[in-house]
Amino acid sequence: MAYDNADVSQSVADRLNDALRDASPLEVLRRAHERFGAKLALVSSFGAESAVLLHMAAQIDPKIVVLFLDTGMLFGQTLDYRRSLANRLGLTGVRDLRPRFTDLSLQDPQSILHQTDIDGCCNIRKVIPLDAALSEFSGWITGRKRFQGGDRLRLRVVEEGTDGQIKFNPLANWSKDQIDAYMVEHDLPPHPLVPQGFLSIGCWPCTKPVEDGGDVRSGRWHGQDKTECGIHVARSPLAPDNVGGGI
Ligand code: SF4
Repeated sequence: MAYDNADVSQSVADRLNDALRDASPLEVLRRAHERFGAKLALVSSFGAESAVLLHMAAQIDPKIVVLFLDTGMLFGQTLDYRRSLANRLGLTGVRDLRPRFTDLSLQDPQSILHQTDIDGCCNIRKVIPLDAALSEFSGWITGRKRFQGGDRLRLRVVEEGTDGQIKFNPLANWSKDQIDAYMVEHDLPPHPLVPQGFLSIGCWPCTKPVEDGGDVRSGRWHGQDKTECGIHVARSPLAPDNVGGGI
């Protein structure tokens, strides 16, 4: 049965991807919003390049739900930026997702799990809270791009999400130059750590400035065999309820 559902959902993601693979980011967002409406969420780190997608989303629906993972280990500058940028763009649907108290008290009571088990730390601080929040949505939007490298080199504009959701990556095709040009064109404020060389920004224990000539995400989990926190890894079979008709 699970295979039947997976096949149906795969065809929906494939069909959407065929239709939108060369569309502009704004068009991808529009089509995603038309299709899913209030069942669509945007996941944002309010990081180095987040202002671009948030600015586009605010043009389509300033009430769109924006899910922000406040892991408890973020830079203070990120928390300040999350507040000031949301206000500036008029985004009223930002939700701060925090780790469950029981997970922290049982698995990381001293906030040092990142020193011994980074996957476990990301799991309780990112994966579990996001999975719980996404359970009410049928589609979600990410800010990933191919130029960020690693597994993202093969990123599609539309793909399967976890739990049967459809996942949109409107900026998949964009280059770093296009991102930078959009920031300038729309006078968007940079994250305060970007001028200090942080080109991708996550939790403070696991983020360093990028060295000259390094990949934009090379400062994340620097020196470790880890490039993703786990929220973009498929973990469960596809569910039938979120599978709709054609676009
Ligand atoms: Fe923990 Fe580091 Fe993952 Fe943040 S990025 S949740 S501190 S392991």
